[in-house]
Amino acid sequence: MARLIFLVLAIALVYWLLRRFRQPPTEYRDVSQTEDMVSCARCGLNLPKSEAIASGADYYCCEAHRRESDKE
Ligand SMILES: [Zn+2]
Repeated sequence: MARLIFLVLAIALVYWLLRRFRQPPTEYRDVSQTEDMVSCARCGLNLPKSEAIASGADYYCCEAHRRESDKE
């Protein structure tokens, strides 16, 4: 019985090592997910492009700043 447990543990260890070496470290995967940052044309606040409000070639942090810039 002890042999069987040892065998199972050995297989688990080999499996774990193979998985560890095959998968790239998480740091590398996070780099590809980094978003473009843009700054608000009104106040200069930096924010991710997906959260910014685009107006022509400019980006704004909120709807209020986009409207304020439209008035000028
Ligand atoms: Zn702003």
